[in-house]
Amino acid sequence: MSTTENTPPFIPFTRPHFNQETIDAVAEVLRSGWVTSGPKLAEFEASLSEYFGGRPVRCFANGTATMKIALQVAGIGPGDEVITTPISWVATSNVILSVGATPVFVDIDPHTRNIDLSKVAAAISPKTRAIMPVYLAGLPVDMDQLYSLAKQYQLRVIEDAAQAFGSQWKGQKIGSIGDLVSFSFQANKNLSTVEGGCLVLNNVDEAKLAEKFRLQGLTRQGMDGMDVDILGGKDNLTDVNAVIGLHQLKQLPAFQSRRTALARQYFDVIRAEMKSAGLDDLHLELPLENFTDSNWHMFQVVLPLEQLNVDRAQVMTELKDLGIGTGVHYPAITGFTLYQKLGYRTDSTPIAQRIGRSILTLPLFPGMADEDIGRIASALTGILKKHRKS
Ligand SMILES: *Cc1c(COP(=O)(O)O)cnc(C)c1O
Repeated sequence: MSTTENTPPFIPFTRPHFNQETIDAVAEVLRSGWVTSGPKLAEFEASLSEYFGGRPVRCFANGTATMKIALQVAGIGPGDEVITTPISWVATSNVILSVGATPVFVDIDPHTRNIDLSKVAAAISPKTRAIMPVYLAGLPVDMDQLYSLAKQYQLRVIEDAAQAFGSQWKGQKIGSIGDLVSFSFQANKNLSTVEGGCLVLNNVDEAKLAEKFRLQGLTRQGMDGMDVDILGGKDNLTDVNAVIGLHQLKQLPAFQSRRTALARQYFDVIRAEMKSAGLDDLHLELPLENFTDSNWHMFQVVLPLEQLNVDRAQVMTELKDLGIGTGVHYPAITGFTLYQKLGYRTDSTPIAQRIGRSILTLPLFPGMADEDIGRIASALTGILKKHRKS
């Protein structure tokens, strides 16, 4: 008896989508004789600027470099504190450390899973220079509250909008409003250039400074028509990546509506499965049901571990055995060895601890089939039922 014939195809938690037109455009750049930063980058930056309502935009090699340069443009360095969330990709706080500043972690709101803005004021000290919120899974924080805090305490805001390309706040695109807004175009993000990122800035002076940090601190001045007056790195985005971004931008509305449709199905199907499996008393936490602001970068559930006799790793293994890939985004940063060595405590952000231990990312990407949602929901509820404490 063959098992392979009956095994349904594996569903990864995400998968990038590059169409034939994109592949052809990459080939054209490769044949053109100019492959690094050049005309395609200029075109991509101009398109992004238009997308963000005319604000200056500069691209970088990845989202991490983008955020680091945002901090440098804001003049943040040694002796400064930056308030951020423990539930993010570690890049967020790593870049704060890399410019010599100190991350200060504030606990999250269990419903949005983003930084709890009502707890920020208590974390502000005379050294606080900026707030770096993260829009987990693409759901923005309350922008009115964020910017009124920033104004009240005279803080810069560096938005880690790595996951929020296409997200909105009160009908305005994330990035078209606010202070410094950083996006990532890494392979798993809603819009991908394979690797890459972009920063939305306030004015041309900031954009020029970002360009200097992007290329060795170089300025087109001085005796030899060239001078270096600040320390910069090598963080430019190539034309090969930029041309991919130009084509992804065209597909974004289609990607977005598909993601939203799939997220809606998840809510309906998971609730129906939980009910029919008699699991209504299990506290499986679904995401905030926000269909106006979120770009549905991810669909994440929080497992009711206290009601189960297995841990998250076991749930993930059993889902994998059923052909379903999942991810963990993210364990709380404060628990990592480096951060423990730096003296951070996990018990000061208890909600982040709990959610970091029990959050699970289910598959969500535009190429998924409708049937996949049903398969995933019934696999998940089956596992919950099997391992529920009696
Ligand atoms: C992807 C991501 C980053 C970093 O982007 P890279 O392009 O991988 O360097 C930073 N923060 C968050 C929240 C991310 O999801």
